[in-house]
Amino acid sequence: MSQLDEVVGEIADEMRRHTDRGDVASYIPELARVDPGAFGLAVVDAEGNVAAAGDADVPFSIQSISKVFTLTLALGKAGDRLWRRVGREPSGSPFNSIVQLEREKGIPRNPFINAGAIAVTDVILSGHQPREALGEILRFMQALADDPAIAIDRAVAASEQRTGFRNAALANYMKSFGVLENPVEFTLGVYFHHCAIAMSCRQLATAGRFLAHLGRNPTTGMSIVSPERARRINAIMLTCGHYDGSGEFAYRVGLPGKSGVGGGILAIAPGKASIAVWSPGLDAAGNSHLGRIALEALTKRMGWSVFGT
Ligand code: GLN
Repeated sequence: MSQLDEVVGEIADEMRRHTDRGDVASYIPELARVDPGAFGLAVVDAEGNVAAAGDADVPFSIQSISKVFTLTLALGKAGDRLWRRVGREPSGSPFNSIVQLEREKGIPRNPFINAGAIAVTDVILSGHQPREALGEILRFMQALADDPAIAIDRAVAASEQRTGFRNAALANYMKSFGVLENPVEFTLGVYFHHCAIAMSCRQLATAGRFLAHLGRNPTTGMSIVSPERARRINAIMLTCGHYDGSGEFAYRVGLPGKSGVGGGILAIAPGKASIAVWSPGLDAAGNSHLGRIALEALTKRMGWSVFGT
């Protein structure tokens, strides 16, 4: 057993014993029903070895973690022109905040808050039907995770669509400034559906490998993005990946990471590993409570923080 296998097993055992697990997202019944006791961890190292523990093979709603992959696709399509439609500064605000949009003329702070991700989705959608854009996003996830079985949870997407008044407000507000090109309901439809992709920790950690290895999958050799682009996506994950909890995540974990309200976190240890953790209970900023604690333990024991041990 490798040191990594041992550490991953230890952390899963420790997390099982935690009583303070945060609160499961309750804004739609599909997420509220998830077992708060679930915990999964999967780490894929540079050689492609997977260390996994707990519920690492149980699919969960990736929610905002999808924003890392839509950003990657939109940069592929628009290149640096993307930055005319969205910024790249931390927001210091909750994920669904609307206040900055007025002061900043409808340009969202960064691609990982909801407004920014909706603008990014709009870029992917332009020139396509919603069905085609969504198919492109889903196929990208399947190819990266090397698993054609990855699917969208339609019930989650439909609930989001029924109750997503705040996201609709953000989208309409941006539309009024001309930041969105497509009909608001089309852009939102694609956004809600890509947030509703269901994946396991193992699939997600596999999908993130290109970010840990200069833009390519080190096993297949396939280049997904340039090394420079991988570095920049990691930079945005580090500074903006946890909303107004991004500073705390950098302080405690010290890795680029992206959280989702389903309780997942994708974290990247550059040159070393791609990591996915899942524990559905959230902290006050909407990030996985135990997920962060588990990643803090992992980086400490493996010496993986980008800031040194
Ligand atoms: N689909 C969720 C929303 O738009 C995603 C938010 C999140 O994961 N933080 O509200």
